Amino acid sequence: MGFFSFTQEIAIDLGTANTIIICDDKVVVDEPSVVAISMADNKMVAVGRKAQQMIGKGGNMIRTVRPLKDGVIADFYACEMMIRGMIKMIPRKNQLFTPSIRMVVCIPSGSTEVEIRAVRDSSEHAGGRDVYMIYEPMAAAIGMGIDVESPEGCMIVDIGGGTTEIAVISLGGIVTNMSIKTAGDDLNNDIKDYMGRMHNLRIDEPTAERIKIQVGSALTELEDAPEDFMVVGPNKVTALPMQVPVSYQEIAHCLEKSISKIENAILQALEQTPPELYADIVKNGIFLAGGGALLHGLAKRLTDKITIQFHVADDPLHAVARGTGVALKNVNHFNFLIR
Ligand code: ADP
Ligand code: MG
Repeated sequence: MGFFSFTQEIAIDLGTANTIIICDDKVVVDEPSVVAISMADNKMVAVGRKAQQMIGKGGNMIRTVRPLKDGVIADFYACEMMIRGMIKMIPRKNQLFTPSIRMVVCIPSGSTEVEIRAVRDSSEHAGGRDVYMIYEPMAAAIGMGIDVESPEGCMIVDIGGGTTEIAVISLGGIVTNMSIKTAGDDLNNDIKDYMGRMHNLRIDEPTAERIKIQVGSALTELEDAPEDFMVVGPNKVTALPMQVPVSYQEIAHCLEKSISKIENAILQALEQTPPELYADIVKNGIFLAGGGALLHGLAKRLTDKITIQFHVADDPLHAVARGTGVALKNVNHFNFLIR
């Protein structure tokens, strides 16, 4: 260790859709998990939001990559570049010296040895000296202020971009765990297909995402109904520009199949939960995290169908990252972290 070396401590939520970095309990980076790569020399040209703006616009000069698929690293090279790029975005007090980095990174609860290794390798290559890992549902629970070490069972449902993870936590461990590949990306695809099929309108993922955020719904009847959303795009057949207003009711129908899949997975996880823990869950409710938790009417629909109260995290997009940040401060105390 040189005279000027110091340690920077960061927590990373490496998500399929978004990557969030926490330093000293503050969100310092919050960017979409995208890198833009030059086709000519395979170098990174942009990362995060800037790269996202290039999706579908780079022709054969720039390709945009989402390095994670279904929660796991699908493109190692791109993932490493992304982590490096995001770490560079952290505002630093001392610009002169490259710090040694202690990191806690979260991983999906069903990760295999190989997948865990991949996250560790990518993090180390990107500059991490001292890398710890934490399972995402555990981080989500901690981020929501739940005492994960207590004998009281709790259920977390984390609806991200690529996967929905359902876990029951008790005594600092994950007792039941289920992961399905139906999540935010699928809802976008449902909307994209639907707009093509029903309205002859060709749209890309970013537009589908905007439609989902504005008028996506898990119920055909909402108390605070959003206004119709005006979608603009080319007609699939004539290529002429067209404008179509879409209502939340029609999007609710279009999302029904995928939402049912999520609902059924939750029921299946409940079925596998030991009775003592099941009783705790009925008493305390089920906690929703991840961006998908923000879908209009979702918590109400699940509460009505499953007859257990669903609670949405205060800040569902940051719950996992916040919990990872708490883990960073407790690396010596939390014995469920993975080295
Ligand atoms: P990941 O952990 O996989 O990166 P996130 O927890 O960051 O995922 O959630 C991202 C997903 O949440 C995306 O599919 C995004 O479209 C979705 N999302 C974000 N905001 C909303 C919203 N208001 N309504 C519905 N879905 C949303
Ligand atoms: Mg996530």
